[in-house]
Amino acid sequence: MKILVVEDDADLAQALSSALRDQFMVVDVASSLREASELAFAGTYDILVVDRGLPDGDGLSLIEQLRHVHDHTPALVLTAMSDVVERVRSLDYGADDYLAKPFSRDELMARLRALARRPAVRAQQFSSAGDLSLDHDVRQVSVRDEQLILPRRELLVLEALLLSKGRTVHRQRLLERVYGEGEDIHANSLDSHVSRLRVKLEHARAGVEIHAVRGVGYLLRVTPGLDQE
Ligand code: CA
Repeated sequence: MKILVVEDDADLAQALSSALRDQFMVVDVASSLREASELAFAGTYDILVVDRGLPDGDGLSLIEQLRHVHDHTPALVLTAMSDVVERVRSLDYGADDYLAKPFSRDELMARLRALARRPAVRAQQFSSAGDLSLDHDVRQVSVRDEQLILPRRELLVLEALLLSKGRTVHRQRLLERVYGEGEDIHANSLDSHVSRLRVKLEHARAGVEIHAVRGVGYLLRVTPGLDQE
């Protein structure tokens, strides 16, 4: 799950992004409308969290511009203005939900989970292949009901591959899912996440294999002979 946080209050942006990263999400932060639209129009986010009071305008105008070009990425608006008129205005501009400041971390997470369950983002709560299953809501991986604990980036790689099982996922797409904008990507780090993940899946006898497609990316498929589909 990749989230764009648009918030000019540096402390709040920092608190939000670390809370989201704790939940295994990839987070980019923009502190102005201008920066936010550059990132948002590049279009790889699952959810936008948008503050209204930004130095160069109202965050609602970003949502309005996106909706204008039929980009329906779910957007949660943050604002200090909590009256009904402003709430309605946010929804009229195409926001999907609204949270008044100050808000609790738990409430934010609950709202984001609700947005993530929308069909535009993800159709199902569980994905599975072979003896492996992933609960996207709680981000838990299991092999035959036994939990498999994975570090964040390995889980993000696995999630992306599992959602496209049987199909090759391009390297660039995987990198976008696993790293935030401007994050330091070490040479071959994607490959090392994949190889550690492979070892763990094999060790757990998960019944799936990750194949490298030379020059293109990776693909996950059910180990031949175990295919029950
Ligand atoms: Ca603000």
